[in-house]
Amino acid sequence: METKKTFLADEDGYYGEYGGAYVPEILYATVEALRAQYLDIIESREFQDEYRMLLRDYVGRPSPLYHARRMSHKYGCRLYLKREDLNHTGAHKINNTIGQVLLAKKMGKKRIIAETGAGQHGVATATVCALMHMPCVVYQGALDVERQHTNVERMKMLGATVVPVFTGNHTLKDATNEAIRDWCCHPDDTFYVIGSTVGPHPYPDMVARLQSVISKEIKAQLQQKTGRDYPDYLVACVGGGSNAAGTIYHYIDDERVRIVLAEAGGHGVDSGYTAATIHAGRLGILHGSKTLVMQTPDGQIMEAGTISAGLDYPGIGPMHAHLATEHRATVLAINDDEAIRAGYELTRMEGIIPAIESAHAVAALAKVNFKPTDVVVLTVSGRGDKDVETYLSNKQMAGEYGNF
Ligand SMILES: *Cc1c(COP(=O)(O)O)cnc(C)c1O
Repeated sequence: METKKTFLADEDGYYGEYGGAYVPEILYATVEALRAQYLDIIESREFQDEYRMLLRDYVGRPSPLYHARRMSHKYGCRLYLKREDLNHTGAHKINNTIGQVLLAKKMGKKRIIAETGAGQHGVATATVCALMHMPCVVYQGALDVERQHTNVERMKMLGATVVPVFTGNHTLKDATNEAIRDWCCHPDDTFYVIGSTVGPHPYPDMVARLQSVISKEIKAQLQQKTGRDYPDYLVACVGGGSNAAGTIYHYIDDERVRIVLAEAGGHGVDSGYTAATIHAGRLGILHGSKTLVMQTPDGQIMEAGTISAGLDYPGIGPMHAHLATEHRATVLAINDDEAIRAGYELTRMEGIIPAIESAHAVAALAKVNFKPTDVVVLTVSGRGDKDVETYLSNKQMAGEYGNF
């Protein structure tokens, strides 16, 4: 029998040549136990009932699908915005953290750890730990602790312990290493909540499934609004890839639907200051997964550079590396100035201040040639309240919108 080609993970967590689980021996049994149990638990009636109730009553789902008329007119298409910015805590990340902390409880774990860069995933994790009465330790690079003061205070207020990490460059990659070290010391009672579609199998597949509520809702909402349950284009930004994975999940093998991913170009993919991993990365292993990684010629991991703290990662989810390699997705690198301008544009044309991460997806609209009949769904992954300072201090990049 011929098996149907799919862009979802195979049984061992591979997407083509990318993925897998490359973990230290001391974690092997822990990761294997998670792999053996996650599908049964996540798909169980009991889990689904609780998960859906929380997404509805706590997060505020379904998030609206909004027909952005002025932007549609400007880009010559029918543009719909999937409003993940309206979720509790202001982004899509909560969909994942609720699912993982629920799973941790069902597995009998007593303690949650997480890593965070800008603090968005740390806040989403600390929020759910407060809700579910779980002790929570968040590792964060010491430089990020300084830069992201408000999120650090939010995490502490929610009852989490924030541990500043002073190794390496004092940023996300170092925080991740420290979280993995903690996990190695407490493999039995501790659950490591990873914030994106990265890390060893089963994390990328698990996070994609937990975020897939986004495309499930898009299907129903499009059917209702357009009489057709699929769009011509899906557009999302990619850091590690979780909001994009959720946006495309139920369409990934539907070739009528074109996928456009926006990664963070920083100052340009060849500038040395970039987070555009798909453009600038090479095959390597990072944080337990074989994927594209930005690295020096001798294989040292490079620091990612972008105006957007949430896209600041030198790796990429294995699903997305595979989609790009197979040309299933078009991947565009959006530079800092383009993202700033697009953030201002959405603000002025639709009255929606997007997260600077999401503004990268908005900037991609100018780089695609749409037909007037094309239905385009763009995921606004988060709200821009946290980025107002960044927008203001870069308003010279905003063109005509910067004159105020
Ligand atoms: C963290 C974050 C991202 C990037 O993460 P993905 O896993 O690639 O989705 C994008 N947008 C916002 C608002 C974020 O907080």
